[in-house]
Amino acid sequence: MTTKAFVIGHPIAHSRSPLIHGNWLSQHAIEGSYSAIDVAPAELPEFFQRLRAGEFAGGNVTIPHKEAVFALCDEVDPLARTIGAVNTLVVDDGSVRGTNTDYLGFLGNLDSAVPGWDEEVNEAIVLGAGGAARAISVALRSRGIGRIHVLNRTRDKAEALVSEIEGPFRAAGLTDFNELAPHAQLIVNTSSIGMHGTRFDGLDFGKLPGAALVTDIVYSPLVTPLLADAAVLGLRTVDGLGMLLHQAVPGFEAWFGVRPQVDKALRAKIEATLEG
Ligand code: NAP
Repeated sequence: MTTKAFVIGHPIAHSRSPLIHGNWLSQHAIEGSYSAIDVAPAELPEFFQRLRAGEFAGGNVTIPHKEAVFALCDEVDPLARTIGAVNTLVVDDGSVRGTNTDYLGFLGNLDSAVPGWDEEVNEAIVLGAGGAARAISVALRSRGIGRIHVLNRTRDKAEALVSEIEGPFRAAGLTDFNELAPHAQLIVNTSSIGMHGTRFDGLDFGKLPGAALVTDIVYSPLVTPLLADAAVLGLRTVDGLGMLLHQAVPGFEAWFGVRPQVDKALRAKIEATLEG
């Protein structure tokens, strides 16, 4: 029988996930499918009935459903609960389990781009305090980073993140960046600044140590203004496309039973679809 998987969202046409999973399905000659399905918020309960009936092995969940599916899953694992968002569903014997793979995607990307990066980092700055920041904060905590500053435009949201996720976190505003920068070995942009070429105002990246690593999870454009500025300063940079590719690995393995590789050909295929 053909194994079927999906990504649900509303709208969904922009999703690159069908291209990623389609690439792996043909690479491994698996008789399966992965399709983008537009599901409006009001249609979610009905879609979950289809899941429980066994139509799909599972799939991905994207905006605006990442929080709403919590109430519909039969089980949400502790990781997704801590992060506060589900991006992957696995159906097993009529039961739907929700998890979050953004955390593994972030780590997989940095591990393959800069092996051993975590041994160099004692202090990190996370820019943004939304859903992605939560996943990345948990990821950084898992690598034993000594101090993690979460800086957000709306400081209250950074305070909320820090009080809800236990760990070596400190909340601050974006205006605190220039003071904290000289002590940070890693900067992660998890905010939506960078999309469509937008840039941070008033952040002096020249204050970072020369060996600092700067990574952006925004991947369209691939080279965000933040990464371009960091490169001009001679800092090491890692773009966000690898995170998108690596977060897809655990889902594919759970649905189709094969652990796929993130290789150069796949990256090039997705890169060709991004903003210049
Ligand atoms: P979100 O929950 O909506 O959070 C957005 C964050 O961006 C908030 O911290 C928000 O600050 C900040 N922000 C938005 N506009 C801003 C502005 N003009 N100035 C300063 N800060 C601003 O979104 P999310 O789900 O965390 O996603 C954030 C970004 O990460 C998106 O671009 C998304 O595409 C990308 N992403 C990439 C991957 C990947 O695989 N590479 C995975 C997940 C997400 P306030 O709280 O002050 O509004």
